[in-house]
Amino acid sequence: MGEFELIRQFFQPLAAAGGSSQLLLGPGDDCAIQRVPPGRDLVFSVDTLVEGVHFPERYSPFNLGWRSLAVAASDLAAMGAVPVCFTLALTLPEANEHWLSDFAEGLAKASAAFGITLAGGDTTRGPLTLSIQVHGTVAEGKCLRRSGAAPGDLVCVSGTFGDAGAALPYLDTVKPSPLQKAVLTQYHHPQPRVTLGQQLVGYASAAIDVSDGLLADLQHVLAASGVGARVQVDEVPLSAALQELHGNKAIELALTAGDDYQLCVTISPGQWSRLSEQVRAELTVIGQIEAEPGLRLEGGEEGISIQGFDHFGRTV
Ligand code: ADP
Ligand code: MG
Repeated sequence: MGEFELIRQFFQPLAAAGGSSQLLLGPGDDCAIQRVPPGRDLVFSVDTLVEGVHFPERYSPFNLGWRSLAVAASDLAAMGAVPVCFTLALTLPEANEHWLSDFAEGLAKASAAFGITLAGGDTTRGPLTLSIQVHGTVAEGKCLRRSGAAPGDLVCVSGTFGDAGAALPYLDTVKPSPLQKAVLTQYHHPQPRVTLGQQLVGYASAAIDVSDGLLADLQHVLAASGVGARVQVDEVPLSAALQELHGNKAIELALTAGDDYQLCVTISPGQWSRLSEQVRAELTVIGQIEAEPGLRLEGGEEGISIQGFDHFGRTV
């Protein structure tokens, strides 16, 4: 199958299925055309996933399709953006029709779930690699950034942490137990907080999506904002499955493992009280921003070692 036949069969239908009014021209020409409405800023980001580095070898193509777009959409969520369209640069070792069909199906599911339309791409031969560029828009000047956290702000997170990291040992397990399945779902099928991100525009002072680990990503916010934070370790939300699988060690995973794609945001107490009940219910307060630089952990069991953290109560 040639490059053009492959695009026509597997990717063109995906583009037709989307349908953002801002995407004036999708795949088929030399460029796609996006019209940014007056009063909106265009935000965009690109992510590259390499087989054997960012996802396992012989990884399910359906899950890869979902996961790669979900991970990219998570960056839009962190900025509070409304997703519009994406491009896909796909490097394939061979044109395997079963693989392509399953991959396109996973991609189509994610495209529909996050309301983001395939606008174009590039297809080449080589070791399996994907680059996805996502485009979204936000009301002019209202984008959530990493740099706005101020002393006194609450540190809040969505969802629970650690499940995707806990799934890594089971990626090749043939018959996972129900608990293992529960954490595997978080790894294979991340749900970026696209709607929540938009709901926090005008409220949150800073935001980041947690891809590398809660402490690591919170520290990016602290560095960008020139502040520090105190985090109550016992407040970090954990799933029931993670607690059953890892007991005392669950918190270590929750603080340091990546791939959960939840949001970590800072909000002043005043803005917190203005948030709707429904949005507040999506968030858990885990700490406070302080003027003194550094990240201070409180609570948790003594002696649990966390990468970069000797034990709780230490300042880094
Ligand atoms: P050019 O040589 O002008 O860059 P290409 O041959 O690379 O054009 O691509 C032809 C058309 O097919 C373009 O509109 C491009 O966006 C689209 N396309 C190529 N690969 C993909 C893909 N993997 N997914 C979606 N669209 C693609
Ligand atoms: Mg090209």
